[in-house]
Amino acid sequence: MADQAELIINGRHVRPRGGLRRHAEGPFVPLQHVAPRLGGGVASSDRGPVLTGQGRECPLAGTGFQEGDLYFAPLPLVARFFGAGCYWDQSSNTWVLGQENPLLRGKSILLDPGHGGQDAGVKGLYGCEEQLNMDLARRLQRLIELGGGLGLLTRLEGESCTTLKRIEATRSFQPLLLVSLHHNSSFDPGDNGTETLHNGRWPSLRLARCIHGELVAEISSYDRGVKESNRSLLRELEVPAAWVELGFLSNLQDEALALQASFRQRAAAAIYRGILAALS
Ligand SMILES: [Zn+2]
Repeated sequence: MADQAELIINGRHVRPRGGLRRHAEGPFVPLQHVAPRLGGGVASSDRGPVLTGQGRECPLAGTGFQEGDLYFAPLPLVARFFGAGCYWDQSSNTWVLGQENPLLRGKSILLDPGHGGQDAGVKGLYGCEEQLNMDLARRLQRLIELGGGLGLLTRLEGESCTTLKRIEATRSFQPLLLVSLHHNSSFDPGDNGTETLHNGRWPSLRLARCIHGELVAEISSYDRGVKESNRSLLRELEVPAAWVELGFLSNLQDEALALQASFRQRAAAAIYRGILAALS
């Protein structure tokens, strides 16, 4: 049976030819399209298809099924062979696979879900910035952890956090970089789109450009650009920092997107790729 679930591999949305298949044991994926994304491939032998990669082989006969020229194998088996972490995000119906990335291994990334507690941030008709920012941060945190990094948060759910506390958290954690996550608002309901702010210093400008480029390409939002900002959080930080304004909760279309878990999952994956690009 075809499975409508989405698939993210190493921070990138993948739509393999043949799609996913749902079985009682979990999803099956077409190996010819999935294995290369994980650094491997599929070979054929007398005993049937063989999964190859990292100098090892895994005979697949009996584990999956052939459909046309594609061999479908259980996702958990494929993940284990390639040393990838794997989870299912129920809210966005997405399978997320991730391998350790040398750029992230053992590194701390500080994620700053904007606002919190008494400060709910901006509100739309249905959405509230504080919760959407936190949801985005949690999705990003899981991707960073699959990549072998440590995703730290400046605050927890419902907790208030002043700018000073955010700056102090950055000084005590000494992360490689910080990403602050926000949603925008305007008196003009026609204002929409994504913008990414930085403090004007090169490492932050580069981080902001990398994240912004991946984001607008992934979510196809109106590109408001990468902008220098004098916000005290950005000004005071010594580590590279970028401030993402994902969309306008005061704009009906932007808000409708922000309320979709699959949209936030895609946005988190794009920010993750932007972080990797900035570290490379
Ligand atoms: Zn905000």
